Amino acid sequence: MADKVNTLPFFYGNITREEAEEYLRQGGMSDGLYLLRQSRNYLGGYALSVAHNRQCYHYTIERELNDTYAIAGGKSHRNPADLIEYHSQESDGLVCLLKKALSRPRGVEPKVGPFEDLKEQLIREYVKQTWNLQGAALEQAIISQRPQLEKLIATTAHEKMPWFHGKISREESEPRLLNSNRTNGKFLIRERDEKGSYALCLLHGGHVMHYRIDKDKAGKLSIPDGKKFDTLWQLVEHYSYKPDGLLRVLKEPCPRPNGADGVSFSRPPLPRRGATGGILSRLSSNSFPKPGSKKLPFFTSRHKTTDNLNPYETRVGNTVSKEAMPMDTEVYESPYADPDELRTSTVDRSQLFLEDGELGSGNFGTVLKGIYKMRKTEKQVAVKILKNDDNNAAVREEMLREANVMQQLDNPYIVRMIGICEAENLMLVMELADLGPLNKFLQKNKQISMKNITELVHQVSMGMKYLEEHNFVHRDLAARNVLLVTQHYAKISDFGLSKALTEEENYYKAKGHGKWPVKWYAPECMNFFKFSCKSDVWSFGVLMWEAYSLGQKPYKGMKGNEVIQMIESGERMGAPPNCPPEMYELMKTCWTYKPDERPGFSVVEPRLRDYYYDISQ
Ligand code: ATP
Repeated sequence: MADKVNTLPFFYGNITREEAEEYLRQGGMSDGLYLLRQSRNYLGGYALSVAHNRQCYHYTIERELNDTYAIAGGKSHRNPADLIEYHSQESDGLVCLLKKALSRPRGVEPKVGPFEDLKEQLIREYVKQTWNLQGAALEQAIISQRPQLEKLIATTAHEKMPWFHGKISREESEPRLLNSNRTNGKFLIRERDEKGSYALCLLHGGHVMHYRIDKDKAGKLSIPDGKKFDTLWQLVEHYSYKPDGLLRVLKEPCPRPNGADGVSFSRPPLPRRGATGGILSRLSSNSFPKPGSKKLPFFTSRHKTTDNLNPYETRVGNTVSKEAMPMDTEVYESPYADPDELRTSTVDRSQLFLEDGELGSGNFGTVLKGIYKMRKTEKQVAVKILKNDDNNAAVREEMLREANVMQQLDNPYIVRMIGICEAENLMLVMELADLGPLNKFLQKNKQISMKNITELVHQVSMGMKYLEEHNFVHRDLAARNVLLVTQHYAKISDFGLSKALTEEENYYKAKGHGKWPVKWYAPECMNFFKFSCKSDVWSFGVLMWEAYSLGQKPYKGMKGNEVIQMIESGERMGAPPNCPPEMYELMKTCWTYKPDERPGFSVVEPRLRDYYYDISQ
């Protein structure tokens, strides 16, 4: 079930422990009175504050690796609400049963943390500078990767804080704090070594105190014997409202001197300007060099992935593997996005190098891997090669029609055409999606998480929303026609049956039956030969079913006309095993009989997006 904590009436957001206690006091302190708040030291975690015997007790609810929630050492639950429900029946280690939820006073919304205010701006700047994106490409990157970007920002934001001085020695740090105004509570943080240990340097009574900040095996940061935190900025926020073992609270960030030597940043730059208010919000005005753009063979890999908390580290058994975001690959933006590359619809044969080994085949011929030498770069490509035989005029026509449609499309979640090459054969040169069709990938990788499947399905919905906005119908949307660039990056392909719609008509009327993928077709396609974005939505529902059933064939064992009868009688496929109920509901909505009552991709995509963000929190 999705994590909907924000909507709970007894969730107070980012309040401190003291504020929680004040609320409980105002609420009467009856035994078992409780409220929920956001953890101020663990990313994605919560804290439960409970009254008992006129005292307040606080429990940290940690988010575990598999996205479940537990009070340290306790039972795991799907979400904080389930955990609370459980502890209203079983104390199981708590001081008492949770008896009464303390709702927020009228007009009080969950408190937004200082980082939340900044997040939007940080994410935008981060994406802009790291991948050099703008316009639609930037927006699409943020929409599809928001959960990952939020985590990335949270763990690297300190690098742009004025109090973070990078790798300087103890001796170098002292004059910085003792220079000019010697306000008690002035502080900075410096990096001690590569292993992720830092030092907090704090001015107190004219002296600089140095506190070590260690990183434990789980990546948590703490001053010896102190509270543990996921990020440096959470640690700074905590000690800036209470000393908690330090000689005094952190009061004033010591600004990093402009252009100071020794400040080495391991990752791409963060924003130059910040919002006002709060220690966190006062961003440094230092400017940093552009990140290196040295390219690896396939991934541009412009951001480093060395953090303990990196969202793109996944654990399969005991091995940790790192994966790229769509923007790290060379097929996120069009090869022609670079103004130095001449946009052309024809590919020069002498610049195209085919490799042995088929990627796939169809009745048109084969698809081979190749290299296309452009002006500035070399691209790995997939080349669809029409076989030379006597009766291929119709297939040739079809391939040219497909090329014509593809040429008009430019979206990160759609396989782009690079050009047509007329040589020994007719060839369609496309972006390469190396991991092949989604259905086959899922059949072979059954351990894949629901979150990963939802991420991919959401990307397909983004590509389809783009088609809908540009008045194209795909007409062959199915898991076999979604190709994977990486395990976290899907692209829609196979535009052989696609049509551009006219301004006047929002559907395409086929002249008669063809070799149709009946199991993916909406009733109006079969009954009236009418194809619209709404019939693509129907197919998308079937694609979702295929994805959540890990590449199973839909309507298994049934013939086309049996499927038609089943649909006409109002029956629909059942939910795939372990399919999240929210996603099965969405599939069924896609299978609304009447196209007018069926939602478009402008509705389906945000529904998937919301669900994806919820499960990725
Ligand atoms: P038909 O045109 O008869 O429907 P098809 O659907 O099998 O044929 P495609 O989907 O275009 O044809 O290509 C066949 C196979 O080639 C795909 O299933 C896939 O494995 C591979 N392939 C096609 N395009 C690409 C690409 N851009 N990158 C990687 N592999 C590709």
